Amino acid sequence: MNVYPWHKEIYERLLKAKPGLPHALLLKGRRGIGKLDFARQLARSLLCESPLEDGSACLSCTACCWFDHDIHPDFRRIEPETDENGKKAGQIAIDQIRSLSSFMGMTTHRNGYRIILIHPADAMNAHSANALLKTLEEPQGKTLFILVTHKLQQLLPTILSRCRTISMPFPKPNEAQAWLLEKGVPDPIPFLAESGYAPLSALELVSEDHASVERFLKEIGSSSDPVSIAEAFQKTDLSMILSWLQKWCHDLASQAYAGKIRYFPGLSDRIIEISGKADKIELMRFQRKLGHAQRISTHPVNARLFLEELILTYRRMAEGR
Ligand SMILES: [Zn+2]
Repeated sequence: MNVYPWHKEIYERLLKAKPGLPHALLLKGRRGIGKLDFARQLARSLLCESPLEDGSACLSCTACCWFDHDIHPDFRRIEPETDENGKKAGQIAIDQIRSLSSFMGMTTHRNGYRIILIHPADAMNAHSANALLKTLEEPQGKTLFILVTHKLQQLLPTILSRCRTISMPFPKPNEAQAWLLEKGVPDPIPFLAESGYAPLSALELVSEDHASVERFLKEIGSSSDPVSIAEAFQKTDLSMILSWLQKWCHDLASQAYAGKIRYFPGLSDRIIEISGKADKIELMRFQRKLGHAQRISTHPVNARLFLEELILTYRRMAEGR
């Protein structure tokens, strides 16, 4: 795995700075541009025992091999834990951060780097963030923390002040397009448009059942019974449905005010029709409601009832009732 073309420059710069790297880096940037892959790649290169001339990983030494099998003894990745169904818990718990102290106490393999990747860093709650803070205050040897986030504002200022923040570049549209073409996506533009031009999110959309978005949008605009739509979609990830609706409403509003469609250019006829008759104040309220629901969507709610109510509200808004 190589770094993405839009991250090449920053990658080379960091590897050149290797001897003088700070003990905590914070990679911030928009979702879906490959920050986590970048962090892993950087960690692998720093841990490699016979790096290439430019500092990147050789991919064949013992360290590289360990890294690729997720068994490198000097590397830890902290992420929200998964439950028995494989679903991620929302937060990084304090125990996960505390468990680092024994790791930090050990001598590293052949005196190299010790690297801790925290992803997403915004998943730390106040307790775990404070526990991390203590560790960051006492830097040890060649320990490097790499924090990754697309929600910088959710991190404690005290954490931010102890990290060197790196703004991860967003690819230019033609760069993103070329990359997807190379990945074998013949028609990348609609997917890029739907994902806000974040190439990795676009790729996810391609592999995702794209038909279900359109089916959902069609159903909520039809006269089908909301109860049966909610039943049909209650197994679909709620935050995904909310994000479909957020993009859809963004297009309705943007069409109404600026005559522009960003996410669903393929459904422009329907967007123009609905945005013409929708109640604009209710549309704004509905968007706020979606944003709020998105923020709390990891909490347990009755998905079916919630969807049913959402569909009814949407219909009232869309029909200007
Ligand atoms: Zn290597």
